[in-house]
Amino acid sequence: MTDFDFDLFVIGAGSGGVRAARMAALRGARVAIAEEYRVGGTCVIRGCVPKKFLVYAAAYGKAFKEAAGYGWSVGEVRHDWAKLCANLHDEVDRLSGIYWKNLSNSGVEIFQDRAELEDAHTVRLIAGGRTISARYILIAVGGAPARLGIEGDELAISSNEVFLLKQRPQRIVIAGGGYIACEFAQVFAGLGSEVCQIYRGDTVLRGFDDDVRAHIHDELKRSGVRVMTHANITRIEEAGDGARRVYTDTGEELTADVVIQAVGRVAHTQGLGLDKAGVETAADGAIIVDKFSKTNVDNIYAVGDVTNRINLTPVAIREGAAFAATVFGDDPTAFDHADVASAVFTQPPVGVVGLTEHEARKAYGAVDIYKATFKPMKNALSGSESRMLVKLVVKQDDQRVVGVHMAGDDSPEIIQAVGIAVKAGLTKQQFDATCAVHPTVAEELVTLKDKWTPPEIT
Ligand code: NDP
Repeated sequence: MTDFDFDLFVIGAGSGGVRAARMAALRGARVAIAEEYRVGGTCVIRGCVPKKFLVYAAAYGKAFKEAAGYGWSVGEVRHDWAKLCANLHDEVDRLSGIYWKNLSNSGVEIFQDRAELEDAHTVRLIAGGRTISARYILIAVGGAPARLGIEGDELAISSNEVFLLKQRPQRIVIAGGGYIACEFAQVFAGLGSEVCQIYRGDTVLRGFDDDVRAHIHDELKRSGVRVMTHANITRIEEAGDGARRVYTDTGEELTADVVIQAVGRVAHTQGLGLDKAGVETAADGAIIVDKFSKTNVDNIYAVGDVTNRINLTPVAIREGAAFAATVFGDDPTAFDHADVASAVFTQPPVGVVGLTEHEARKAYGAVDIYKATFKPMKNALSGSESRMLVKLVVKQDDQRVVGVHMAGDDSPEIIQAVGIAVKAGLTKQQFDATCAVHPTVAEELVTLKDKWTPPEIT
């Protein structure tokens, strides 16, 4: 029998890789992990965690303005970007350190190096020059920002670099209408920048329920973001003093201090040696896996964004844990990707779980829709015109709630709990049998009485 250096070699110490490595090591496997950048991955280092700090920072700006309606007099307010970033990076460093400590406390050997596949059982450490053999290999290298591929691409940054900006740009152009574009548009608008978001479609957040899309589109505009739709950036040029000139296919030219491309992410598999190991990928570069996260090569698995299933941190973590249970726990476990709740940290934020109205109609035909948009109580005095959306999608035949869509303050917090009810397959009647908590925005979830009927077209 071949003697391998390790039972498991994990490439990539992000959310999925770290969880898998720790769970495998705790089950007695000899585990190594390689990370080319920093332990923690996109979520901790340059994604969810630092982004949420920026979201909190922007929310203070809004709160100062709204406090007047509640009797507060707030003097001149100023924001110190450098201080925010310093504090944010301190916290990111702390979290990365905890990830590192947890790995090593579990007995995982960490290589701060890029690893590439040599064959199905061997990886090469690029800086160290060493080759290492392993019985199993887990690829958890995540994704990398996609690029528009236009003239002047290099003059734009991606979300990765936002956290490294030395000062807050006053004029920002953001390409894209997805999670990242919408979140950063409102972060920077909230901090006082002039933001123009350029989106090729008609309404932002494609893939979300149409009511959520329309709601957030309105809220982006309400918070001062200029949303240019049916538009594409065609070229970027230097405009002197570090500024950029942005050309669009609508004929408009814009000048910005920073251009951010937030046009999706692609599997980070370039140069990884997948061909040497015979690992198959899809047309978009994502690694193809089965429900146990196994690739076409028996001893090679992949989890997280590199597989382009649902590209969210908690999903990668569950996939990593399921992999460890399957391979090292003698407990075949396939993570169930249905009804995964998610949030978009716009202002107000979005929380969704289950099917959109469109998806439910396609899957089940007849559905009942319950929805309300209203001014949340807080805004009665705050002066904010921001509104709340609550929508339930109910399968007509058995009255199961198959989708919940919310946009408004605290939606991400609320949707985590509602996600349990949707995942458990509860019905509209069971929602209604639950007594409201008053006065809250969430009580709408259990008090929606009237079915929504589409307006008649005359
Ligand atoms: P998304 O896939 O959400 O959005 C990409 C956007 O870019 C879409 O609006 C898309 O338009 C547009 N786009 C793509 N290609 C082009 C092109 N060639 N020209 C013009 N526009 C283009 O990606 P993001 O980059 O925003 O985020 C990446 C992933 O990261 C998300 O899918 C999500 O999984 C994760 N994420 C999750 C967050 C959260 O949970 N809160 C926060 C941030 C990221 P169109 O709609 O027409 O395709």
